[in-house]
Amino acid sequence: MEGRRAQILDGKSVSGLLRQEVARRAARLRSRGIVPRLEAVVAAQDPASVAYVRMKRRWAEEAGIDSGTFEVHEGDPADRVLEHVWRLNQDPAVHGVLIQHPLPKSADEATVLASLDPDKDVDGITPTSLGRLAAGQAGFRSATPLGVMTLLDHYGIECEGRRAVVVGRSVILGKPAALMLLEKNATVTIAHSRTRDLPDVVRSADVLIAAVGRPEMVRGDWLKPGVVVVDAGYNKVDGRDRDVGDCHFESCSQVASWITPVPGGVGPMTVASLLANTVTAAESSDA
Ligand code: NDP
Repeated sequence: MEGRRAQILDGKSVSGLLRQEVARRAARLRSRGIVPRLEAVVAAQDPASVAYVRMKRRWAEEAGIDSGTFEVHEGDPADRVLEHVWRLNQDPAVHGVLIQHPLPKSADEATVLASLDPDKDVDGITPTSLGRLAAGQAGFRSATPLGVMTLLDHYGIECEGRRAVVVGRSVILGKPAALMLLEKNATVTIAHSRTRDLPDVVRSADVLIAAVGRPEMVRGDWLKPGVVVVDAGYNKVDGRDRDVGDCHFESCSQVASWITPVPGGVGPMTVASLLANTVTAAESSDA
């Protein structure tokens, strides 16, 4: 297909700026004797989760945020994890807790999430955090959609009055993304697996957030010319050798005005947002 190419929403470089700002804030806290600290809870036997947590901890440490990990094994009773989360809730030296989805079945993730102190929920994924967002109250916003909104803000992309379509309605991504777009006064549609005529729904979007988990599902001919495409999908293809989003980059970038690449779009913004929330939690403990 011939035509224009969209401008890139460069999550890699914007997340770098955000991480520098986080590092400055962490340094200020350290100079006052407060060491920001992020603790992760992760399924030990899930290589993808372990790799994500390792990367998040590395970026945290680079920004001056100390970190630790608690590993959960398949068969561990929910009580063991709940007791650990309870200790983290009580520990004033811990400012943020990341519960990496998915935990082993035996750990009962929903109960673990509900037990986390919302003021330490820096990934913004507990029911209380989502409720605060829905109610328009202050609280930690879910890291991935927060990263998306920060990226749009950085490039001066206005949502007010525009039609936004979010494809996907998960609690960590699609739903909070829709609520955050609503906060920005967009007119929001949420699509999902039972949506009829999905390409037509997507074609109504001025701003599209794809959060599906289906490699390259959204094609260029589904899009309205000039749409802003934010692809939160992250899918391994070609025997796990290649990462692609939920949007077919080549065809979509011929029609969109702006587009996120995968990798290098939403992924790094998610981690930077988690770190920003963690220093915010540490700053509140200083108040
Ligand atoms: P979930 O599997 O929890 O949710 C997927 C959503 O997509 C569901 O609401 C589902 O609908 C909908 N869906 C599935 N198939 C279709 C279809 N054919 N047409 C329309 N809608 C469909 O996924 P997540 O929200 O956790 O993740 C979505 C994607 O984002 C994944 O690729 C994941 O890897 C990526 N991700 C990226 C992150 C990042 O930092 N970049 C962080 C988290 C996730 P229904 O509710 O009806 O089942």
